Amino acid sequence: MSSTRSTTEVSLSFAIESGLAADGGLYMPPKLPQREVEGGDLKSRAASLLAPLFADEGIDVRKAIEDAFTFDAPTKWLKPDAGLLELFHGPTAAFKDFGARFFAACLSQLRKPGAQLKTILVATSGDTGAAVASAFHQRDGFRVVILYPDGRVSPRQAHQLGAFGDNVKALRVAGSFDDCQRMVKEAFAMPELRTAHALSSANSISLGRLLPQMAYYAHAALSCVAAGKGKPSFVVPTGNLGNAFACLLAREYGVPIDRVKLATNANRVLPDLLATGQYQPKKSVATLANAMDVGAPSNVERLLHRFPHVAEVVSADWVDDETISETIKRSSEVICPHTACGMEVLRRMRSRGDDGTWIVAATAHPAKFDSIVEPLIGRKVDVPPMLAELLARPSSAEPIEANVNALVTAMSVYRA
Ligand SMILES: *Cc1c(COP(=O)(O)O)cnc(C)c1O
Repeated sequence: MSSTRSTTEVSLSFAIESGLAADGGLYMPPKLPQREVEGGDLKSRAASLLAPLFADEGIDVRKAIEDAFTFDAPTKWLKPDAGLLELFHGPTAAFKDFGARFFAACLSQLRKPGAQLKTILVATSGDTGAAVASAFHQRDGFRVVILYPDGRVSPRQAHQLGAFGDNVKALRVAGSFDDCQRMVKEAFAMPELRTAHALSSANSISLGRLLPQMAYYAHAALSCVAAGKGKPSFVVPTGNLGNAFACLLAREYGVPIDRVKLATNANRVLPDLLATGQYQPKKSVATLANAMDVGAPSNVERLLHRFPHVAEVVSADWVDDETISETIKRSSEVICPHTACGMEVLRRMRSRGDDGTWIVAATAHPAKFDSIVEPLIGRKVDVPPMLAELLARPSSAEPIEANVNALVTAMSVYRA
């Protein structure tokens, strides 16, 4: 395995443990021959798909899958040719539970007895932080520091982030998600800080999060084929491009997937890239689909490295806030604002006569975004039990300024 910026080979375990490559690039998943994925359920398909990647590594991939995938990813068919891939049945009610829990399981396996306590430092636009915190909460040998943009996450997301306690510290940053991401990058560029805390990243650049996300696309696609509906195409609500990259990679490895369509909110850097061939990162703007408020998607470097003719492998469209609201209101299913972007993009394709079998990734449970969804649909959204349990706990987060010095100070309490 090598990074996007060099040809030096490292092992997958090393790539998973270190997150970002030392040269500042992103580790690339290896190229493998296309294979048929076996198995009849999510876990067996996950094992079949991931095992060749983990062949010579210090990670027992089946054990990691058992540890991580404790909930399912069912496709709910709304019409014979249109489904919702429900990725929100995990403990924090968003798809990021899959990647975060698998990553935590890998790091636990790789941890040597008596090794220094590791700090997982993570910037979140809302859902990552909770998924990572939940995955590492009370796990021996780890602690978690979460940075999130104050006031830019939903009230329930904020509550979730501060509700773990124990080995999890939540910092609310006076800035945007891009600020949070920059602070984390800068912290990783400080060798002394890195060593003192045995820092590890858990953002969607981490291969330990990216790779397991292929599993639910394999599961959904193979179930779709088995149901006689043919090879499906996917609409993926997209921010940092981790989830959609996993979908593209699953297809590269041989999973029967037809087309892949990205759906973004008004942060339209990716649709613009695919339309013009120019990548122009921008400042992110706040939208109703806040987990996709990303102006400089970190996986773009991976995307362009793997697929230089990117417009041939994926297309994209974007949805403004007004249309997100309309879509939630009009939908027969109760959906979150991110999923609404996906549903709207599918509606547009249908109106242009596209009649393939499409599955929209439902990336979060609508109950996480009750303050947006409930006024639009005029009723309460049922809260899944695991989310209800978190919301019943007390919650607290420390406010900090949007610069790396403030982060260093906040982390210094751990140095004693
Ligand atoms: C993180 C997230 C996204 C965006 O996923 P990326 O992998 O960053 O593209 C979409 N929807 C929800 C609910 C999310 O939490």
